[in-house]
Parts: sequence; C-alpha cells; structure tokens
Amino acid sequence: MAYTRNSTSRQGDRRGSSQRGSSGQIRKKRTCRFCDNKEDYVDYKAEKKLQRFVSEQGRIIPKRITGTCAKHQRMLVTAIKRARHLALLPFVSDAVK
Ligand SMILES: [Zn+2]
Repeated sequence: MAYTRNSTSRQGDRRGSSQRGSSGQIRKKRTCRFCDNKEDYVDYKAEKKLQRFVSEQGRIIPKRITGTCAKHQRMLVTAIKRARHLALLPFVSDAVK
C-alpha cells in the first residue's frame, strides 16, 4: 500500500509520535535514563547525576516528568535520600522563601 503524504497535512505531523499533550507543557522524550545507559544501580555518590532528578527546591521530581521507570525511580529515591544524608544534596534549598 502506498501511503501518500501530502504537504497539506493538518495539525502537527512531527515524527508520528503518540504523545498526548493535553496541556501546553513541553515534554522531553520519555525514556528511562538508567535503562538507556543499562545501569543497574543508581550511585548515591554521583550527586551531579542525582541533581537532575531533583527540583530547584530540593524535591525529587516525579517519574511521570523525568520518564524514569518504576524500578529505577525507586532506586533513585533511595540514592537521593542517601545523598541528602551525606549532605551531597539539600533536603530543602535555601532559595525557598
Ligand atoms: Zn529504568
């Protein structure tokens, strides 16, 4: 079957993604960073890496935003909590209020 694609296709014909963006929120590609790198363990000593999963206020960003899978999100949370205990990450940022 020949699928002819016109140039007059209406409404967002970008890469045929099945993303449902109801609100105008920009979403990055939802892939688990740890699965991509085939990491089986989240290192709590790598605070640079963990910082990407923590908001400016020092809160852990939920997996629905970062795209981390459940398995790795669990490990990530443990790692962040350990990192906090070691003062590698803040419990709460100074920027808050
Ligand atoms: Zn994963």
